[in-house]
Order: sequence, then C-alpha cells, then structure tokens
Amino acid sequence: MEMTIEILGNTFKIMYVDLSKEDLCGDCDVNKRLIRISTAISAEEQVSTLFHECIHAALGLAGINNLFSEEIEEAVVCCIENAFHKSVKLTPKSL
Ligand SMILES: [Zn+2]
Repeated sequence: MEMTIEILGNTFKIMYVDLSKEDLCGDCDVNKRLIRISTAISAEEQVSTLFHECIHAALGLAGINNLFSEEIEEAVVCCIENAFHKSVKLTPKSL
C-alpha cells in the first residue's frame, strides 16, 4: 500500500512495510521524501507513528533538526505527537 502526504509543500511517499527486523515503528528520510510505517504495529500505532514521522519531516525540511541533538529532537517530536496526535487528522492521499 502506497500513499502520499504534503508536508511544507513537499510530497512525501508513505510506505507501509514490516520494520520489525529493524525494531522500528517507522522512520523518515527527508532527502528521499519518504516515510516508512511498520505493518508490524497496530493500526492505532500506525496513525500516531505517521504523525510522529511527519513532525520529523517538518523539522528536517525547515532545518530545525540541526539546532539540537537527535536525542532532543526525539523528545520534541514525542512531545508534539503526544500533545496533538488525537486532535490532528492527517490526510494521506492514495497514489
Ligand atoms: Zn522519532
């Protein structure tokens, strides 16, 4: 299943793949405009992970991720995710 989502005017491809071997719920490659979401987690976790990875994408596109360490970026992203993921509706588009 492949979908796309617009982030700061950029189209990211969303791929749903089994990431259990990499021990990941998802990841984001800003240069490739690619977000991967694991099929090994629940549908609810996939939704919050997509939101999480979109926040990483936005910080990466804006260059804000360069202002702090990976550890602090993760803390910032998790905070925004937890604060808003239930009230923000992401609208991926099917390819
Ligand atoms: Zn993260």
